[in-house]
Amino acid sequence: MGAIMNRRNFCRTAVAASVAAAIPSLPGCSRKAPVATEAQTSIRAISLDGAEIELERAAVKELGESMTGPVLLSNHPEYDTARKIWNGMHDRRPALIARCLNSTDVSNAVTFAQDRGMLTAVRGGGHSWPGKSVADDGIMIDLSQMHTVTADPDKRRAYAKGGALLAALDAASLEHGLVTTAGVVSHTGVGGFTLGGGLGRLNRKYGLAIDNLRSAEIVTADGRVRRISEDQEPDLFWGIRGGGGNFGVVTEFEFELHPFERKLLSGMLLWPLAQARDVLEFYGEWYQGLSDEMYVGPAMITLPDGSGAVAMEVVYNGDPAAGEKELEPLRKVGTPMDDGVTMQDYNVMQTQEDAAFGHGVRSYIKNGMVSEITQGLVDMMIESYTADPRLAMFTHTLGGAAKRVGELDTAFPHRNAETMLGVGGGWTDPADDESAIAASREWYYALEPFMGGYYDNIDFDGSGAVGNYGPAYERLSKIKGLYDPGNLFRLNSNVEPAV
Ligand SMILES: Cc1cc2nc3c(=O)[nH]c(=O)nc-3n(C[C@H](O)[C@H](O)[C@H](O)COP(=O)(O)OP(=O)(O)OC[C@H]3O[C@@H](n4cnc5c(N)ncnc54)[C@H](O)[C@@H]3O)c2cc1C
Repeated sequence: MGAIMNRRNFCRTAVAASVAAAIPSLPGCSRKAPVATEAQTSIRAISLDGAEIELERAAVKELGESMTGPVLLSNHPEYDTARKIWNGMHDRRPALIARCLNSTDVSNAVTFAQDRGMLTAVRGGGHSWPGKSVADDGIMIDLSQMHTVTADPDKRRAYAKGGALLAALDAASLEHGLVTTAGVVSHTGVGGFTLGGGLGRLNRKYGLAIDNLRSAEIVTADGRVRRISEDQEPDLFWGIRGGGGNFGVVTEFEFELHPFERKLLSGMLLWPLAQARDVLEFYGEWYQGLSDEMYVGPAMITLPDGSGAVAMEVVYNGDPAAGEKELEPLRKVGTPMDDGVTMQDYNVMQTQEDAAFGHGVRSYIKNGMVSEITQGLVDMMIESYTADPRLAMFTHTLGGAAKRVGELDTAFPHRNAETMLGVGGGWTDPADDESAIAASREWYYALEPFMGGYYDNIDFDGSGAVGNYGPAYERLSKIKGLYDPGNLFRLNSNVEPAV
């Protein structure tokens, strides 16, 4: 996804009606919680199966007293800020927001929700495209204040709290000349990012975020705080490495860190659309022999002047001279209109798209996994390119270390995919929602025949849990049956608990 959006005006201008229609999976999404007043003895909420329930004010008060962090009701001055998430398309009002400061707070909030069968959303960094971290009339377990990351350079480990952002993970690691795989926009949450798999610019060298996860602290649906790893509750640990938020609230992630030279040969190459066939056909052959150090992700974009372009984002994580040599053949394809690949700090790359993907942008996105960039796919990419400045086609390149992990070693099964190919974009005017979503879908459906499976983290619609988890689904369902038989944690790429 990297390459693109900074080269074009991602933040353009987007319809609540069409968006609400696009997310039928969130019960109560059309209801507006009334402002809570002290005089009311109960607060209206919603159950897991969408029925209206009443929460006794005294019980809510008791929850507040049991927690270190506050419980925010709709009349609290911080309520409106706390309920907002990244994608401006979602304007939802939870019945209450449990703003947790530690795992005991999380446990108390989970137990409160479980005892009442309440619709439960978990907010980490708030970047869920479909807005699954907030639900009308539900409880929002808000981890945003649990955001610290510490690094232990001797052990080569980073410890990220459940609501930490990728910026903090990078910062704490880079300070010690260390790194782990993080995503391409630094205000994304570590929580949702990691639990879904975690694709980033270093995954060819170090694997996905989940491949670097060594242990986690998690609060399960029974309210228990558990430390899990390959040795402790290994099934559950397997499940959280790709299985999303299905199994509980992760309050801490422990990542392995790698020694890292942060000045890298990196940047973007750009060709006019007229050269797209030459560039993409070349790439389709060339990328198969690339070293693990080389990450190159193609994209099709529309520049601010309205012209189309093909972009390649390059990050070479190794000796720059070797990188220059490996890159040479790509640079010789056609005549690039811009070559911005140079020596620069990794953090420049990691933060360069933050503003383009600013909070409040309205955004829709879909993706699929591609195992081979065939002639047919290249033809369709060119044929289906749409000169809509709000939209782009982008990729997350996989392969390398990410591919050497067995298909079912973790719950992220797309190990044979060479790339994740997505289409979508962002705008700011609600009036654009309908047309931008329709145009994204049209573009996506043209490319879909060349895809197999998808990555739920980067998908607005959530094209179905089976497509996301593939052959991992059955084991996930069994684990879900053990740890969350009532499906409390259902606002995610949801796995049905096996009976
Ligand atoms: C601008 C942008 C850039 C992105 N870039 C990348 C990228 O480079 N690579 C990539 O792989 N993905 C990327 N994504 C997708 C991203 O990984 C998902 O949107 C992810 O869910 C975001 O996590 P979050 O914690 O910010 O989201 P939230 O909205 O807080 O949560 C999303 C989901 O994760 C669950 N969750 C979050 N934290 C926890 C926790 N601690 N415990 C249990 N469940 C939790 C929530 O319940 C919810 O279902 C990007 C998304 C955006 C919007």
